[in-house]
Amino acid sequence: MPDLSLYRHLDEMAPWNDRLQVLEVTGVIDEAPDVKTFTFRSDAQTWFRYRPGQFVTLELPTADGPLMRTYTLSSSPSRPFSLSVTVKAQPGSVGTRWMFDNLVRGSRIRARGPAGDFSHHNHPASKYLFISAGSGVTPMMSMLRWFNDCAPWTDVAFINCARRPEEIIFRKELELLGGKMPGLSLGFMIEERSSRESWFGHMGRIDAVRLPLLSPDFHEREVFCCGPEPFMRAVRSMLESAGFDMAHYHQESFGAPPVETPPAAVPDQADAAAMAIRFSDSGVEGRCLPGQTVLQAARANGVRISAACEFGLCGTCRVRKVSGEVEMSHNGGILDEEIAEGYILACCSKPLSPLEIEA
Ligand SMILES: Cc1cc2nc3c(=O)[nH]c(=O)nc-3n(C[C@H](O)[C@H](O)[C@H](O)COP(=O)(O)OP(=O)(O)OC[C@H]3O[C@@H](n4cnc5c(N)ncnc54)[C@H](O)[C@@H]3O)c2cc1C
Repeated sequence: MPDLSLYRHLDEMAPWNDRLQVLEVTGVIDEAPDVKTFTFRSDAQTWFRYRPGQFVTLELPTADGPLMRTYTLSSSPSRPFSLSVTVKAQPGSVGTRWMFDNLVRGSRIRARGPAGDFSHHNHPASKYLFISAGSGVTPMMSMLRWFNDCAPWTDVAFINCARRPEEIIFRKELELLGGKMPGLSLGFMIEERSSRESWFGHMGRIDAVRLPLLSPDFHEREVFCCGPEPFMRAVRSMLESAGFDMAHYHQESFGAPPVETPPAAVPDQADAAAMAIRFSDSGVEGRCLPGQTVLQAARANGVRISAACEFGLCGTCRVRKVSGEVEMSHNGGILDEEIAEGYILACCSKPLSPLEIEA
């Protein structure tokens, strides 16, 4: 018997907001080797409001404690009753692998978001060029799904790169969209042939010769790029060498959690340059060594601050500074209004004076 309470109109439901929310898994789909899409609805019957290309941070309740992982929404806000993330488990993955092994229909997890400004809504243009590699396809898919629903005539050239044919995420749906959207031109590129799928398309890596072949008028387009850092670096330098106006280039970095181990705090022999740091909620008085971030100092002093990307993008480690000054070099994970209200991102803030933090 279907759950009749699910049949509601949008105006009978409240929109999702940026507080911590509970998501319920409604489906898990295999997309490609080691790639799955997880679809969610809100357990509070809210509808999802976000910009195509934005991300959420999921709190994964692993046996070793909560792990925060940030994922772009591959779904489109034009279909606001559910949202989805499409995730690739890299070799050695802990968080994503936990999702593969544990999340089934009906599972509930907490999520923060949406956040991020990698969206065509922030850069309206008459023509777009999307360039992605591997799981970097997710923000492009969200934007394309939105175009298909809301502006299907939009001119989009999409170059989607993968290692092998079977690793092209969303290939079938993209080909379907290519048939439905008159302004969409698709160029797939792979690096290696495979015995699993035949391939008659472009091979190799995107370079100065292939780019104009796949998108002859790339100079006139608003470019969005997402993929591994070396891939994005190559695209950037290719565009720069071609004289492209980089004010029209936007990229999203999925980054990799830093592996550095923060130096342990040693209060007794504290370096003269170390700053006093007080964590008011936990009542801990500690030291922040030179070069340490507030997040590293918190960990070294046994104070838990939730964190995910750890490069100032996802906003998970936002904490309120009660007193003191910091130098913060974030990547857009905090709003100017939040900074004015005294918030900082612990992962990318270093003390300039003794500090008191709400944590
Ligand atoms: C804004 C943003 C959006 C993101 N969107 C997506 C998305 O849509 N889909 C998706 O699959 N991931 C996405 N990520 C990356 C995701 O947050 C995780 O960093 C990534 O999935 C690795 O986490 P894990 O738990 O699988 O591996 P971990 O347990 O964190 O790491 C395991 C191993 O993988 C390596 N590793 C960590 N991160 C990466 C990476 N990004 N690429 C390659 N190797 C890595 C580590 O060095 C380590 O050796 C996004 C990240 C950000 C910041």
